Amino acid sequence: MGTEATRAGIITMLRDRAYIEVKKNLVYATAKAKILIGAIGKEILASPEMTAKWEQKLKEISEGDASPAQFMEQTKKMVQHIILAAVNQANSWTFSEEVANSFSPGKSKFKKRNPTKLGACKKCDGAIIDKGDFYGCSNYKSNHCNFTISKKILGKTITQKNVKLLLSEGETDLIEGFSSKDRTFNARLTLDEKDHKIKFLFEQANVNL
Ligand SMILES: [Zn+2]
Repeated sequence: MGTEATRAGIITMLRDRAYIEVKKNLVYATAKAKILIGAIGKEILASPEMTAKWEQKLKEISEGDASPAQFMEQTKKMVQHIILAAVNQANSWTFSEEVANSFSPGKSKFKKRNPTKLGACKKCDGAIIDKGDFYGCSNYKSNHCNFTISKKILGKTITQKNVKLLLSEGETDLIEGFSSKDRTFNARLTLDEKDHKIKFLFEQANVNL
């Protein structure tokens, strides 16, 4: 399912979540995938019709012809129904021995890829990594290091490349198009050595954020 535009992403996601394996350019369904298909393959959740109905409803909502609250309410009811149905049916699920034996719940054969280290943490001996919504310290879990760098500053996305520069050289490339209230401006970002806060670096002077 999905559109041409989202297909590549879906395939990557299926591989990352261990539903498919790619060997020599051929794609194989894993035991995990076969179990999922066996369990819910015939359910409404997996039907193209449902996706089509949702797409239609979302289009109507975006055009103001349908109520978002009603859609959410219907979706909630449907999810409750699906979960209840799955719990009831779980007793009658049968999977071939081969499939069941090659699947251990919660375990993936694929190790999580190590996140790219973008540079040294300024507060501890950790490394700065991309945390999704922001950049943060790899030691957060062990020592609660709270050093972070925002991913978005005044409307501009701060790229990994610029974070690397900031940590290694002390400043980013010139970033164009920060927008604050009614003006836009260009600046480099730099880190204050004392409080580790990000500051704008203009051609002449430093200005606090
Ligand atoms: Zn740290």
